[in-house]
Amino acid sequence: MQNARVELPTPCGHVVYFPVFLAKKATEEGVSHVFHTICTCGKAYMVSTEPEGAYIRGRGEMRAVTDAYEALPWEEYQLQDQRGSFFFKKAPSLATLRKLLGSVGS
Ligand SMILES: [Zn+2]
Repeated sequence: MQNARVELPTPCGHVVYFPVFLAKKATEEGVSHVFHTICTCGKAYMVSTEPEGAYIRGRGEMRAVTDAYEALPWEEYQLQDQRGSFFFKKAPSLATLRKLLGSVGS
């Protein structure tokens, strides 16, 4: 199960993947995380996993997205599976996440 990943469609028309672990944490436990990833086309994205789903919170050059991710003042964790290492930061609360990154769908 540790190897399972969730597909997330991106605005560039592709998909990026993240561990099912993060989706489960959000939907089942209400624990939100943020990670950044790079699409096959080279576009970088910062993504939040929230109770209602995963949302793209930032996009652009890898450098800019990496900087935005690094700037989040939260503890970073690492998940290791057969696909390699996956890094993410744990938001103290959904309210804190939305305070920093804004609300979605509004
Ligand atoms: Zn793409």
